[in-house]
Amino acid sequence: MMKKVTVIGAGLMGAGIAAHLANAGTEVLLLDIPSKDNGKKNHLSESAIKKLIKTKPSPLTLNSNVKLIKAGNIDDDLHLINESEWVIEAIIEDIDIKKDLYKKIQNVMKDDLIISSNTSTIPLEKLVENSSKRFKSNFFITHFFNPPRYLRLLEIVSSKESITEFKEKLNKFCDVFLGKTVIHCNDTPGFIGNRIGIFWMIVAANKAIEHGLTVEEADQIISNVFGAPKTGVFGLLDVVGLDLMPHVLSSMLTNIKKGDEYHNFSKTPEIIKYMLENNLIGRKGVGGFYRLDLINGKRVKKSINLVSKQYSISLKSKIESLALGKKDIRLFLDHDDKYANYAWSVLSETLLYTLNYAKEISNDLISIDNAMRNGFGLKFGPFELIDKLGKSWLTEKLSFDNKKIPEILQDLEGEKFYIIKDNEINYYNYFTKGFEILNRPKGVIILSDYKKTNTPIKRISSASLWDLGDGITVFEIHSRGNSIDMNTMKFLDQSIDIVSNSYSAMIIYNEGRLFSAGANVGEALFLGNIGLESELVNNIVENGQKVYQKLKYSKFPVVAAPSSMALGGGCELILHCDYIQAHIESYIGLTEAALGICPAWGGCKELLYRLSNSNYLPKGPMPSVMNAFETIGMAKTSSSAHEAKKLGFLRDTDGITMNRDRLLFDAKLAAIELIKNYHPPEKPTFNLPGKTGFSAMTIGLESMKSSGQISDHEKFIGLQIANVLSGEDADVLDEVNEEYILKLESKAIQTLFKQPKSRERIETLLETGKVIRN
Ligand code: NAD
Repeated sequence: MMKKVTVIGAGLMGAGIAAHLANAGTEVLLLDIPSKDNGKKNHLSESAIKKLIKTKPSPLTLNSNVKLIKAGNIDDDLHLINESEWVIEAIIEDIDIKKDLYKKIQNVMKDDLIISSNTSTIPLEKLVENSSKRFKSNFFITHFFNPPRYLRLLEIVSSKESITEFKEKLNKFCDVFLGKTVIHCNDTPGFIGNRIGIFWMIVAANKAIEHGLTVEEADQIISNVFGAPKTGVFGLLDVVGLDLMPHVLSSMLTNIKKGDEYHNFSKTPEIIKYMLENNLIGRKGVGGFYRLDLINGKRVKKSINLVSKQYSISLKSKIESLALGKKDIRLFLDHDDKYANYAWSVLSETLLYTLNYAKEISNDLISIDNAMRNGFGLKFGPFELIDKLGKSWLTEKLSFDNKKIPEILQDLEGEKFYIIKDNEINYYNYFTKGFEILNRPKGVIILSDYKKTNTPIKRISSASLWDLGDGITVFEIHSRGNSIDMNTMKFLDQSIDIVSNSYSAMIIYNEGRLFSAGANVGEALFLGNIGLESELVNNIVENGQKVYQKLKYSKFPVVAAPSSMALGGGCELILHCDYIQAHIESYIGLTEAALGICPAWGGCKELLYRLSNSNYLPKGPMPSVMNAFETIGMAKTSSSAHEAKKLGFLRDTDGITMNRDRLLFDAKLAAIELIKNYHPPEKPTFNLPGKTGFSAMTIGLESMKSSGQISDHEKFIGLQIANVLSGEDADVLDEVNEEYILKLESKAIQTLFKQPKSRERIETLLETGKVIRN
């Protein structure tokens, strides 16, 4: 852990990096140039700090983290850098200005101060030219991606002069405490991420224009073929900001060798010139390739026509031939229409570029795949993509296009860059031309690696139970949205018996894009719609309660390890575990009220229990009941694991892991600890306020209704939740048990499920993916 770090440059990146350091609990000194107004010399850094609280998505995992960041300016405060262990330079991308700052740093720096630059494109060699020996040995490039909190990739560049101990210190801190996937790159322009990633974006945009595709069509293809987020390429350019591209490209062109394919794209397409001239730069401006227009009070998404430059309503593209590639992408790529031709042109150019420069920019192919997955949000890196195609197919198709087959591909023996050998994952080393075991860093367990070389203890279509060794199992949900249906619940029930009989602990974990979207409400709606209300109650609600209680009181410890969204029934699942080891990016919430229902798998009971033991709240039944009411009634979801602690979804004692790749390992350590002296939790009792509590909550709802904050139906939902949390007929002096609250939950959800407006909410979610208020 580093106690204190200085960041110089309080712009977009510097402020974002400062915030993320504070998220890790590190104190930060944030310096910028002094403002001319003498009384407000720290104006730039101070206003950058203030802006952090308002920025969306938030760079802070908790607003109060901002207190760890102190403002200063380089004229008055540069000597203070020696209170830090590391100085990160994140000023304007101009080599002369950067070098000028380095001169000033050299005059004051202590011997063991680590210095790094966040430059995107300037090689290290040029940055340290004419610097002192000490500066050179302490200097690195640490290239964070924007936004620093959310993009996991961190590229480190070092030189022959760099002190190894400093390199290791940076590596460990950035990996374990900042949660970054650290890759070490060679000192070449754009390093790995931007060199390949920007090339991919430029090719994807240019080829879309060349092939006459709409922005929606191009985005759909890029998303499908590369496993990119739905934003595809044009949506991504809107996020990044089109105005950044000419700077990055021109810096790349200045630094990159003649003959490099980047030079083929030095001419800016007409439409992009037009957009830059008219400030159509993306989300931070008035819109870019997409924009939102207000029409009759409604926000309507529009997109630009790449030829006529006019905006019109954005229509979802319908590319029928894409379906050909559903099982095997090659079938789509072999098809002859403009979509497949576009896909192949982007794919082939990107893969050729990667293969031709891989040795120059990296030490291994894993870094390249990591860079594209973690820096650009792709599901597959370039070598993983090639493995989907196979060497023979790719070579044949490239030869058909008269492309020169890159040496690395020619050298590769067999079809794939990743293989399983002696039950271990091996990757191809293109320097030695042999395969090597893929060793993950110490403290990293990746379930998807594990799945390649192991078979599950038991599996159904929506979930699996894995033996992770040392008596520890992993219960993995892998349904659509990782939602929990009746079969998954039944399988969890069976898995509890299996673990009870033959193992020592269970970890609930998966590597899906979200931990769990909650109960499969489609299934519930179906049973309700065909009049099988009693089935719904018995098989879904009450059985779910029974299984979660069985999990809670099983004779072995259960650790939940969520990352991303754990909503509704998914949240209730983790609330029934002995311990939660959460990834920092955990968005946890009992969101049932948004669908017109209420938590009924023990969520109300568990949150009440946690809040009644919370250090944040005064003792007594009312504070916890009112707090739970607000959280459940407003379907509050945490924006980080830190906030989940504040909301009461996580206990103070629960663990937080910063690096996603370390989550399963940390959960396993927690499980091993718990096994040592495990006994199931004691059954709690509750003192609930009954009618008095219910009245207090009713008053709150009535005032919200009369001020127009909530609808009649929302008041009705609120009343049902209030009834559960107040304990209906309970008396504050009498203790009630868990079963009592579970019965109230069941009653409330049955009432709510019968409401047409609640069903309308669920139906809309299922049809459109959107949550409505009615
Ligand atoms: P920015 O323009 O938003 O911020 C630069 C900040 O540096 C400004 O606040 C400016 O006042 C300050 N500054 C300029 N000269 C200074 C000096 N001599 N001393 C102290 N402060 C000074 O720039 P940015 O986008 O945050 O980029 C910063 C660095 O990060 C650049 O090297 C850039 O290439 C790199 N980078 C940017 C991105 C991105 O997406 N913007 C991503 C990765 C890396």
